[in-house]
Amino acid sequence: MPRYIVIDIVIEGGTIVTMDDERRIIHDGGIAIEKGAILEVGNRDDISAEYKAKRVLNAEKHAVLPGLIDTHGHSGHSMMKTIAETVPGWGTMIEEVYLRGVKEEFWYIDSVLASLERLKFGVTTGATFLGGGRGAYRTDDPKFAELHMDGAREVGIREILGLGPVGRAPYTPREYHDLDGEKKTSRTVDFDGMMKTTRKIVEKYGDFNSLVTARMTVSSIAPNLDDLSAEDQAIVRRQAKEIRALADESGRGIMAHGGGGVIKSAKELGLMGPDVMLIHCGGLTEEDINIFAETGTHVSHCPRARAIMRRRCPVPELIDAGVNVALGTDGSAPDRTFDTFADMRTAQTIQRHYFHDSSYMPPGKVLGMATIDAANALGIGKEVGSLEVGKRADVILLNMNKPHLTPRFMIPQRIVYEAYGHDVETSIIDGKIVMENRVVKTINEERALDHAQRVAEEVVEYNDLEKYMGLPEGFWRSSKYG
Ligand SMILES: [Zn+2]
Repeated sequence: MPRYIVIDIVIEGGTIVTMDDERRIIHDGGIAIEKGAILEVGNRDDISAEYKAKRVLNAEKHAVLPGLIDTHGHSGHSMMKTIAETVPGWGTMIEEVYLRGVKEEFWYIDSVLASLERLKFGVTTGATFLGGGRGAYRTDDPKFAELHMDGAREVGIREILGLGPVGRAPYTPREYHDLDGEKKTSRTVDFDGMMKTTRKIVEKYGDFNSLVTARMTVSSIAPNLDDLSAEDQAIVRRQAKEIRALADESGRGIMAHGGGGVIKSAKELGLMGPDVMLIHCGGLTEEDINIFAETGTHVSHCPRARAIMRRRCPVPELIDAGVNVALGTDGSAPDRTFDTFADMRTAQTIQRHYFHDSSYMPPGKVLGMATIDAANALGIGKEVGSLEVGKRADVILLNMNKPHLTPRFMIPQRIVYEAYGHDVETSIIDGKIVMENRVVKTINEERALDHAQRVAEEVVEYNDLEKYMGLPEGFWRSSKYG
């Protein structure tokens, strides 16, 4: 009788950065994975003596981390990146394209493309708004959310999709075009119609462990109630009640953009709380920060987002007040990537520059903001975000045997200061090896990229976007665009 147990996967060797409560780092470690979950984390010798596995991954000269979690992105953006990056009315342009200028296929292949990019950068869970700009959600019909979910599921990445009413409260009807039939059809959908679609999708995708989940989302958490007429205030209150009710029913809360000027109103409308994650949070006052702390509302800080150029997110002040702050990428248009390592460093640079002090934003804290803090912000901290017994097995292996990562000392600092998404070599999601030695195991990557290219070319042509794709005045020799 063998002494050992045969399980699915054993990871042997390497430096394990657990991100557990004690922030344990295990040199020459081992991880046992069975039925999608972490069975044991410990020393290599102990794990090897106890288990035999169908797959043994040698992690020597590697760092082993919990999969990164990107708390905020936008669907559609992967297909639209860089286009119109200098256009002041970018949000209006993108809304036109998303609501009236793309076919169904666009939402599927965008999701595949975004999921592939995230996977190849070490992101194992992403949260995504179904659209972008000023709230260009495709909540006119459930099929768009379904196509998005299909794409993410085929790649094999965890996805939390946010959808809800379009625009800003009070929500007004929007016109959508359907380009898939024999000829273009148009429909107008109001708040009730958008909420109906949202409800359907939130109910359909409820189980986090089936990889894809949906969540009640509004583009902007609330207007400033003081700016509205009594009539509009009444509409906003009624709509907010419905949004809160669906969030409560689903048990999955709310995701939304938000920042200084609307936090008091959001609290009054019942839209702040421990099940709420607000994105950007620029320009917060001390009073706002106190509301975050007292309501337990989470922050998704996207340091490379354009919103942050306008108003700083007071990350150190929020952390000092006891608020949970996570990192997000804000998707990939017009000028970003899903490489969360870049966000870790940018988050440091912004605050260190602001305070003229390089002791702000220590690497360990920043790494937490992309793993366990991010999981907590999304309400999934019991399932993922750290390498601990009983959690789902979302694990990434970084090859540290490279010029920019050697000598292999001070692993957590080295990762935050020097690593890139491309250094992630192998990704395990829910106990399944989804990428190994940078080869995606679930779908044919090359075919997917060709598909995305073809659809993007059609979208450029249909929406006449070529005018936004040249080199504008000031591109080569000026300090700013003309
Ligand atoms: Zn955003």
